Amino acid sequence: MINKYKFDEKSVAMVGVPYDEQSSFMRGAAKAPPKIRAAYHSSSTNKCTESGLDLSGHSNFHDLGDLAWKRGQNVFSYIEHTFDELLDNRVRVISLGGDHAVTWPIIQAYEKHHPGLSLLQFDAHPDLYDELDGNRYSHACPFARIMEEGLLQELVQVGIRCMTPHQQEQANRFNVTVVDMKSIPKGLSNIQFQGPLYVSIDLDVLDPAFAPGVSHLEPGGLRTRDVISVIQQIQAPIVGADIVEYNPTRDINDMTARVAAKLLKELAAKMLIS
Ligand code: MN
Ligand code: MN
Repeated sequence: MINKYKFDEKSVAMVGVPYDEQSSFMRGAAKAPPKIRAAYHSSSTNKCTESGLDLSGHSNFHDLGDLAWKRGQNVFSYIEHTFDELLDNRVRVISLGGDHAVTWPIIQAYEKHHPGLSLLQFDAHPDLYDELDGNRYSHACPFARIMEEGLLQELVQVGIRCMTPHQQEQANRFNVTVVDMKSIPKGLSNIQFQGPLYVSIDLDVLDPAFAPGVSHLEPGGLRTRDVISVIQQIQAPIVGADIVEYNPTRDINDMTARVAAKLLKELAAKMLIS
């Protein structure tokens, strides 16, 4: 996967992670990467970003295709190992999920290459369960695993609107900054970070009116514009990102694929320009 490209620290690459075996409610997110890619390449739009950067044929923006593991292989180990190799090549990666469980092995690799990493999570849910239905690898748990292992300097969660008492305890225990939906009118513009930053976007952070193609529809969420504005205002260097939980089986007219592709473009522009 890696050999055919020559990367340096200016490089940004997208890669699909078609994995949804840790989805607690319904499967489908594994089908997301080709759909997001198709929306990105659709001739109904162009590849110019809001900053004016044209991504078409951009020499530092690559598509590595989708991860492919063997039957019976430990998928989390495979993801961690593959990202370890990618990061050895200094490339900054934007992953197209997959369910949110993939973020844990990705961050295990990132922590080795970017000490002092901060993470900005957009999500309706904190994903801090110690376990869900007896499963510690569930897509409801990745940030509990990440924080237990001390992989981050700082975790900031934006858009939360399903906090449970157990997860609030976990958020307190791990010193997570939670910017919940009801406080967003006051607080969204002054989120800033110190060191290298990883951005994890669970598309269910968006109101179902903007992104119906997710497994867990949670009313009262962000607008697409809110997420784009936060991305555009980030000052810290973004070293990686993921866009997860797109479920094409739930989408209407590919509108959520278009949202994912739009966020992909704006993230890529932010990373390529800074
Ligand atoms: Mn999530
Ligand atoms: Mn979620």
